[in-house]
Amino acid sequence: MKTIDVLATGTMIPLIMEQLEATFTLHRLPAPAERDAFLAAAGPRIRAVATGGHARMDAAMMGALPKLEIVANFGVGYDSVDAGWAGRNGIVVTNTPDVLTEEVADTALGLLLMTVRELSASERYLRAGHWVAKGAFPLTHGTLRGKSVGILALGRIGKAIAKRCEAFGLTISYHGRSAQKDVPYRYYPSLVEMAKDVDILISVAPGGAETHHIIDAAVLAALGPTGVLINIGRGSVVDEPALIKALQDRTIATAGLDVFEHEPKVPAELIAMDHIVLLPHVGSGSHHTRRLMGQLVVDNLTSWFAGKGPLTPVAETPWSGIKG
Ligand code: NAP
Repeated sequence: MKTIDVLATGTMIPLIMEQLEATFTLHRLPAPAERDAFLAAAGPRIRAVATGGHARMDAAMMGALPKLEIVANFGVGYDSVDAGWAGRNGIVVTNTPDVLTEEVADTALGLLLMTVRELSASERYLRAGHWVAKGAFPLTHGTLRGKSVGILALGRIGKAIAKRCEAFGLTISYHGRSAQKDVPYRYYPSLVEMAKDVDILISVAPGGAETHHIIDAAVLAALGPTGVLINIGRGSVVDEPALIKALQDRTIATAGLDVFEHEPKVPAELIAMDHIVLLPHVGSGSHHTRRLMGQLVVDNLTSWFAGKGPLTPVAETPWSGIKG
């Protein structure tokens, strides 16, 4: 496959870069100042792209690659790829589902516990020497005992989170675009109505235009002054300024966030608040899981160029078995 030109939009984990380098003719997308010259020279030869959330694969970028057949995305969320445009133009997009599900669900439950029981604040208290100087850390108002959880987006990860929540004795409900068969949890057709009824809202919704800011001031007001928001999905799903205001005004009690609207930038107002928990998008961030994700990126490309089709195409570019 050495005659096939593949473009990596950024430096990805060594497992990906080494295999792509060994298998294909690998190009790296240069810095913006040199990009136009690079695309003019190499663009017409590129048949595949390996990418991740670090680069936007929009219509302009894909349009500059006239021989492009496949975009392999590192990550299950592919909101940085215009998959609709790709589908309309005969380009397949793949992502990395399933291999990260359990890891992200673990992180979600860790984040939930950290937030509700103020575990990071209590660790900061110990490290600052306050345990000796001031005595025991204050009792937390938050507890999971007797609480209910509403999951926004009961997909693969949402279901893995629900399974863990069941083990914690939590009552579970969910919101999505439609009710699901064979799911034992209560379905809410309205996100605001679910937020009114639950103690904890966990969002694991994908990004993109459809979900942009669906957790807004009205949903936060419905969650209420003892409410907890956990976001492990995408930052764009939450209206961040509205969340900052809701936290400052104690419209909701607290939040645990792994994702933000403009990563890696996190608003200073959020960083200033000691009663919330902020993680730097570590949901799937173990070597174990990132290796599985990376291998799936490589395997999608090699399967495609071996004529066997993509392994994990996204919904917008279903595989019909016919190239082009
Ligand atoms: P999935 O199996 O495709 O599930 C996505 C769910 O989103 C579906 O159940 C769908 O339910 C729901 N959904 C889609 N559009 C919606 C809308 N407009 N309103 C409400 N619900 C909507 O995906 P997954 O594997 O669970 O991953 C979910 C997301 O988690 C990814 O897209 C990614 O953004 C995020 N993620 C984050 C991390 C991290 O490190 N923090 C890691 C991995 C993934 P309906 O079809 O019923 O609407």
